[in-house]
Amino acid sequence: MTYGEAYQMGYVQLENSEIKEAKLDARLLLEFICDTNRNDLLVHPEREITAEQEIKYFQCIERRATCEPLQYITGEQEFMGLTFLTDPSTLIPRQDTETLVEEVLLHLHDGMEILDVCTGSGCILLSLLKYSNDCIGVGCDLNPDAVLLAKKNAEMLGLDATFVQSDLFEHIEGKYDMIVSNPPYVETAVIETLDMVVKGYEPHTALDGGADGLDFYRRLVTQAKPFLRKEGMLFFEIGYNQAESVSRLLAEAGYIEVTVKKDLAGLDRVVYATYMELTI
Ligand code: GLN
Repeated sequence: MTYGEAYQMGYVQLENSEIKEAKLDARLLLEFICDTNRNDLLVHPEREITAEQEIKYFQCIERRATCEPLQYITGEQEFMGLTFLTDPSTLIPRQDTETLVEEVLLHLHDGMEILDVCTGSGCILLSLLKYSNDCIGVGCDLNPDAVLLAKKNAEMLGLDATFVQSDLFEHIEGKYDMIVSNPPYVETAVIETLDMVVKGYEPHTALDGGADGLDFYRRLVTQAKPFLRKEGMLFFEIGYNQAESVSRLLAEAGYIEVTVKKDLAGLDRVVYATYMELTI
């Protein structure tokens, strides 16, 4: 079978299974299996692929046809211009989350200490370390498999970071200049309404923020305090409809300069605030 024929049969199969980006996904899977790039389809569609490549490619197409995310099949996702390993123990890094990283970078200074709570694949913390100098980074996650994945990502990117298994601050020590978190924030009842590619494959513990989606923010705003330096900052990714509630939680907990930022789609996506230690 030729490269071009494989592409065509693959995308038709995905289209028949109502996969939205059928052509794109078929091409990316073919490139993944054959270790080729975009040009190969345009320049060498007549080239024969090996029998082994054909088998592997159509196995990938089968998986994608059942809605399994492309990134769990290929095992990687780009985020902040870096390649991160992905696996079903964590959410796939999302473009929305780049808004959080970019906002933190605006406030981050060389040598600061950063804690990333609910770090998942480690993509937030590792991007911050990659694009700053001499910062010290600690990431934690409830799920030990996420911790393993984050460590692998640090190694792949050649970055020095510490990852620990911890239910929020349970096993965390020390003080930080910045605490960042993209916690689970989807309302429990909404999870069932999400795309199959999300609800069928991504870990629900990384999505489920409780009945009103705010469970983790409630815990984080209070529990973060002993771990923040004076004038330390707390950054959250939030759902598009949570800016007001999360801002209120921060203000009620005594944080100041509460600020909301939008993502590229114009939706509220980040809330951050400064911690002032109360002195009596
Ligand atoms: N934005 C994610 C989604 O709904 C949710 C991420 C999260 O809960 N932290 O796909």
